Amino acid sequence: MPNLSGETRHFIIELDAAVEAHLGWTRRVMRCAVLRASPGDDVLASEAHMLCRFGHWIALQRPHFEKLNARKTQELEAVHQTMHDAIRALCVNILAGQPGASADLETFEQSQSELIGLMAWFKTQFLAEAMCNDPLTGLPLRFGIEDEFMQAQKVVRREGTQLYLAMIDVDHFKNINDQYGHAVGDRALQHLTRSLSSALRPNEPLFRFGGEEFLLMMQCPSPEAATIAAKRIVEQVRNTPLLLDSGAEPIRLTITLGLTQAQNGEFIDEVIDRADQALYAGKRGGRDRYVMLNA
Ligand code: GH3
Ligand code: MG
Ligand code: MG
Repeated sequence: MPNLSGETRHFIIELDAAVEAHLGWTRRVMRCAVLRASPGDDVLASEAHMLCRFGHWIALQRPHFEKLNARKTQELEAVHQTMHDAIRALCVNILAGQPGASADLETFEQSQSELIGLMAWFKTQFLAEAMCNDPLTGLPLRFGIEDEFMQAQKVVRREGTQLYLAMIDVDHFKNINDQYGHAVGDRALQHLTRSLSSALRPNEPLFRFGGEEFLLMMQCPSPEAATIAAKRIVEQVRNTPLLLDSGAEPIRLTITLGLTQAQNGEFIDEVIDRADQALYAGKRGGRDRYVMLNA
């Protein structure tokens, strides 16, 4: 499996186990029919869909499913219950010495197949989501930048505003790892993400671009507005040190920000290159600052 977070792995393992278990129901129903053996109290209970491992788990994981698709989450729960109801009806008849109803058998087969299809859909979506988002900071990774850039270019053209890209790099971050260890370095990146996010407006997407580098898109009415925003972001990080549990001296973090305006019709690679040049000018100039560089 690719490098997925523990939470994602667990989610996928549970989904796979649920698919396996629900495919296994065919076998359980057949054994009940052929051997007239009780399939177990969990199958015959009226709330069987809540007793099975998947029903229990999905009730806990509902927010994760809903985040991916609320309508399909409802479908998944409904079809899961339908399948359990059909199994119960079949088994009750069989145990009473009567043949099962063909309508129940059809409902069972159809809901089982829908359930497996929906679980496969959620698995794909969840994996795609996990691959596009950074597990450490929760920020989107760079895969989505190009689409976002093209959308933003359309918006600024329509609204008569300007699009800016800011490349942000943490200053002397290696020292933080060296001095406090990698785990504190990770916490510093999470802390920094919160500081950055608190200084942004909702239509300013922030990406984790690489190790300790972030990329920000801003739609601004003028170069002055863009520089005011850049200044605010740099100050926000400077003024929000990371407090350590041990009560030790807080860690002061600073960033350098390279800012550039995207020209009409320009490719994102060119804009990123220029933002990078601005960033390096800021590093050479002493760090903890922003530098604007235009085409
Ligand atoms: P500069 O001001 O020139 O940017 O100096 P710097 O020390 O920040 O730059 P350098 O490129 O030398 O070091 C970046 C460090 O960031 C090295 C790398 O181990 C660390 N880093 C990158 N990603 C992560 C991460 O996810 N967690 C932690 N803890 N460290 C990371
Ligand atoms: Mg760097
Ligand atoms: Mg750095």
